[in-house]
Amino acid sequence: MIVVMETGTPKKKTQKVMDRIEDMGYKTHPIEGVNKTIIGIVGDVDREELIDSLGALPSIEKLIPIQEPYKLAGKTFKNTPTEINIGEDVTIGGKEIIMMAGPCSVESEAQIMDTARAIKKAGAKVLRGGAFKPRTSPYSFQGLQEKGLKLLKKAAQETGLKIVTEVMTPKHVDLVGKYTDIFQIGARNMQNFYLLKEVGNSNKPVMLKRGMKATYREFLMAAEYIMSEGNYNVILCERGIRTFEDHTRNTLDLISIPTLKKLTHLPIIIDPSHGTGLRELVAPAARGAVSMGTDGLLVEVHPEPAKALSDGQQSLDFEEFDQLMDNLKDFAVASGRKIK
Ligand code: PEP
Ligand code: MN
Repeated sequence: MIVVMETGTPKKKTQKVMDRIEDMGYKTHPIEGVNKTIIGIVGDVDREELIDSLGALPSIEKLIPIQEPYKLAGKTFKNTPTEINIGEDVTIGGKEIIMMAGPCSVESEAQIMDTARAIKKAGAKVLRGGAFKPRTSPYSFQGLQEKGLKLLKKAAQETGLKIVTEVMTPKHVDLVGKYTDIFQIGARNMQNFYLLKEVGNSNKPVMLKRGMKATYREFLMAAEYIMSEGNYNVILCERGIRTFEDHTRNTLDLISIPTLKKLTHLPIIIDPSHGTGLRELVAPAARGAVSMGTDGLLVEVHPEPAKALSDGQQSLDFEEFDQLMDNLKDFAVASGRKIK
């Protein structure tokens, strides 16, 4: 249910209404617009009870039921695009298409420093790199863990880039949160509900990757878990889903961009690296994503892809990333956007 307050209602009065709703045992999610405030009430809402007890309060313009199962992520709750600001000139969901790039895994100081400098020079705004890696085999490289986080921080401090890195368990949210600007929730953890709630309780933006067999509804319900804890800064990331096709690593679902934009106000990032699994398909997939209206791209870049400890076959080297950035600029302009 959404409570729409009358235009110009003073904060104090709005707070009174929120207090009343909370006294009834519901959580409130206010959004302050330019001249109107709306209050989202989610949970197992008893409509009659709400109408009865709020009806008598002044300053309420109307009550609107929310039909979508994803109450906070849906368009009824908020129909303007969410912009997530992660520092001076980095806004995800605005006019600029934000480029996030870096290795699959942080491997060494030289590797992450060189990559950070190269992607910064090419125009990327966010450095990616896994320190805790979800690997199919327990015998594969699992990541440098806290040492990797420290190296990411060092690279970010030198270059001014922001950081996105994966957190795999609720136990590590505090630790990863000390270093990162954006939490990445990996595809395999999209429905790890305790993890979602834990990052929902932090105040850092969360990039939620779509599970490889998740429907849009399940994807948005996972975002809802984070938002229902009070963290509205959720960035969706399409990274390919499993289909019968096995030529590519995954099937990148680009139609998810306009579809999700219809269903949600949250920004969307495309990962053409995991989405295809093949280096030569990264650029065409990225161009397609820009044309479809993506808010950003997450691209794996490595100084020497052939020597990468993970995902080398889908990683671009510095020159290839440079070319991609150059190439995407025109596509961004043609789509009414820009890539710095
Ligand atoms: C990654 O970004 O390196 C990663 C493991 O991604 P995903 O969770 O999409 O497989
Ligand atoms: Mn990877």
